[in-house]
Amino acid sequence: MADVAEEAARLDAGFVRRWLSITATDIDQEADRLTQLDSAIGDADHGANLRRGFTAVRAALADGAASTPGGVLILAGRTLVSTVGGASGPLYGTLLRSTGKALGDAERITDEQLAEALRAGVEAVARLGGAAAGDKTMLDTLLPAVAALPGYEAARQAAVDGAESTVPLRARKGRASYLGDRSIGHLDPGAASSVLLLAALAEAAGEAAREAGQHG
Ligand code: ADP
Ligand code: MG
Repeated sequence: MADVAEEAARLDAGFVRRWLSITATDIDQEADRLTQLDSAIGDADHGANLRRGFTAVRAALADGAASTPGGVLILAGRTLVSTVGGASGPLYGTLLRSTGKALGDAERITDEQLAEALRAGVEAVARLGGAAAGDKTMLDTLLPAVAALPGYEAARQAAVDGAESTVPLRARKGRASYLGDRSIGHLDPGAASSVLLLAALAEAAGEAAREAGQHG
């Protein structure tokens, strides 16, 4: 029984570092596209905001200070809050920090535990921003994605579909809401960046599963 439990709890701090590192790389590559999306219905800084934030996250995690999945997420979230000026900094920072807090100080966690913790993190984002599904925000990506976990590929696909669903919506939260009906017909930048976070999670999970298969 102990062996089974240990096998299931296979996600460690290194896994979370890898997830956030892939996210940082993808944000860096997609920053111009994210800023373009924000130029249509915002103030053209979303890509630059997240690039600055995730570059700082990568640097903060490089010294290996955090040694648990929860600790890595809390450090990353705190770093985003302190380096990103826009709305997305506190929102993504809260997502990671609240997810990390929900994980406690376990050294290794299961896919189920990560899924539960991410749902708590997304709830914290909804509370902080006062937004709900259909308001044309990052939540339109995050809510269906975390509902599909622990299926990582299903979550990635739900994220893609959720982001796409923001196009016909009228923004009810954030800067884009100032545009009223003129926000209709555009992809929400935060919904687009949340896809990168979920795609990176699926990629890191795929790598971890392949490694477990090789060594197990
Ligand atoms: P700012 O709007 O301050 O310039 P960013 O451009 O970095 O910040 O981020 C904009 C994104 O933040 C939006 O596309 C949206 O997805 C998200 N967002 C803004 N306000 C909220 C909110 N109240 N709740 C959830 N997400 C929000
Ligand atoms: Mg902006």
